[in-house]
Amino acid sequence: MPAQTVRVTLRCNHGCVFCFAEWCLPQRRRDVHDYTNVIGDDWRSELDEVRAAGYDELSISGGEPLLHPELVPMVRHAKALGFSRIEVQTNASLMTTRNVARLRAAGMTASMASLPSHVPRAFDAITRTKGHFQASVDGIRNLLRARVEVILCHVICAGNYRLLPDYVRFADETLHGINEILFFYVQPEGRAARNPRLFPRLTSLRPRWLSAMSEADRLGLYFRTDTQTGLPLCYMTGHEDRLKLIDLLDPRAVFGTDVSSFEYMQGNKRKAPACGTCFFDPVCFGFWKTYLEAHGDGELRPVPEDARLRALFPAVVERHARRGTGHGEGA
Ligand code: SF4
Repeated sequence: MPAQTVRVTLRCNHGCVFCFAEWCLPQRRRDVHDYTNVIGDDWRSELDEVRAAGYDELSISGGEPLLHPELVPMVRHAKALGFSRIEVQTNASLMTTRNVARLRAAGMTASMASLPSHVPRAFDAITRTKGHFQASVDGIRNLLRARVEVILCHVICAGNYRLLPDYVRFADETLHGINEILFFYVQPEGRAARNPRLFPRLTSLRPRWLSAMSEADRLGLYFRTDTQTGLPLCYMTGHEDRLKLIDLLDPRAVFGTDVSSFEYMQGNKRKAPACGTCFFDPVCFGFWKTYLEAHGDGELRPVPEDARLRALFPAVVERHARRGTGHGEGA
């Protein structure tokens, strides 16, 4: 059964330059099933509703959820409802030993912890804070010590992309025990929508990204890129096995009844004419329209079909077969 994200506050003690949370304003909430916007004060009945809708896993997001005064009772309530996995998405700076212990006891099983840079000065610039870097690193270590499943979240932006391979080495050396690094690319919403300079050019990013992926493989560090808000699929060269295409192939299996955010995001992407020759064309939505409008679509690189990709992605092969031509209309 799918997982659901609930956004419990927009307050945050960091001010990340790429934060899109303000996009999830309460007034954007179209109906009771659009949980990724702020769920309001009546969180008990909202969580009841999510569970009753059949979701097994819950992600509590923000803003910074630790600023919500009732986060611990919220997690406890989620546990009582029987969610099998309860994740808290956080910048980790408030994950003190005490807070981790309280959340762990209440039922938190996992945490997606954001660390936008391993360089304190860059961290300060991206998060618009002073001196929080060590608190975030310590918070992630506290989670690991408490045996919480940690997904390290890294949003690739202009302020950090040049040091991607170093970031991977830092994660391996300093945050030993993380389950995975999940890479995102800046999403053109919220603050980022007002700052086009935050978006690194794909061609400049490519060599660093390929090197970071190879470094992670060398170190045995599992990583993924988010297929909704990560890099285009054609930027996974040689590492396509890290793509979980289920989001794109069957969004309802992942997001359940609420696919509003998925549809909104994919609706803000487009492909290039050349995409028609790409192996991933039947499932791919392309890349952000705002980026392609600014820089053109020449950086999207059709992926040639081969035996390895056919074996990895039989569902894509099946979609090609259904079309009859191997190429055509796109996702
Ligand atoms: S369809 Fe286009 S955007 Fe998608 S992976 Fe292929 S070349 Fe890249």
